[in-house]
Amino acid sequence: MALAVFLLLFWAEQQGLLEQVPEQHHQASGAVGFSPAEQPEGLEVYFLDVGQGDSALIRLPNGENVFHILIDTGEYAYADGLTEGLRELGVEKIDALICSHPHTDHMGCMARIVQRFEIGAFYMPRLPDNKVPTTSAYEALLNALEKKDITAIPLEQGVEIPCPAGAAVQVFAPRPHADWEDLNNYSGVLRLTYGETAFLFTGDAEKESEALILEDGYELSADVLKCGHHGSRTSTSAKFLKAVDPQYAVISCGKDNSYGHPHEDVLEKLQKLGTDVYRTDQEQTVLAKSDGSTITFETGLPSILPTQ
Ligand SMILES: [Zn+2]
Repeated sequence: MALAVFLLLFWAEQQGLLEQVPEQHHQASGAVGFSPAEQPEGLEVYFLDVGQGDSALIRLPNGENVFHILIDTGEYAYADGLTEGLRELGVEKIDALICSHPHTDHMGCMARIVQRFEIGAFYMPRLPDNKVPTTSAYEALLNALEKKDITAIPLEQGVEIPCPAGAAVQVFAPRPHADWEDLNNYSGVLRLTYGETAFLFTGDAEKESEALILEDGYELSADVLKCGHHGSRTSTSAKFLKAVDPQYAVISCGKDNSYGHPHEDVLEKLQKLGTDVYRTDQEQTVLAKSDGSTITFETGLPSILPTQ
């Protein structure tokens, strides 16, 4: 036990040291293996396999260009793989970088992403002082933002993230000045619409936040639901799921993770509803494409591998 604690502290220290090292020049790591990205014909959403964590890249056609939104990045160990993967997918500028909430499985390597890419706008939930994380990953993120003169835009109810014509992103949660015990409930919950199709991204928002969103009366229906909190039973309440009524669900979690995600009862609820489930622990990176009326899926795309 003592040894385990010691190793954990040692590991945390290492992570901290790594985070504090200013980056001189990023050396390209090995290729991730995505096919070279082309101009998308419609919306593309890559649910990137970053093990036990979340990261989703949204590509929207924008005239001759592509508008990129990145929601979350996964842990620090994915920094180099994610960087390479994004480059392979044609990302030079991230038009909107979104931190759903500051837990490291969602933003562990976000500082590196800020350092390595041009960032159009950055969104993150506002937290009360007593909830602000003291992790080195969070401090590194704040430093990286400050160095590039990027001001965080509060990710909260009522915010709309500017998108190219035909697409829209609305933020349903958290409520401004929310006061939650659990940091997960500060997760930004976003609905992306493209033509007649809709995607709901929930970060790690749990049942308590879902209940408030229902209370606030938003249009929640979505073709694709990114299940909250890696498919944990603390999220995806029956009522919320009924309101979203997704045809497809995506669960982003690590193979054989110690939390037992996704939980069986969540899978049962989805099955009862007739929802098709895609899981990054089983199908690696999952790509959903929308032409504005129909959604198609590709699975088995490359995983982002952690550096040891
Ligand atoms: Zn998480």
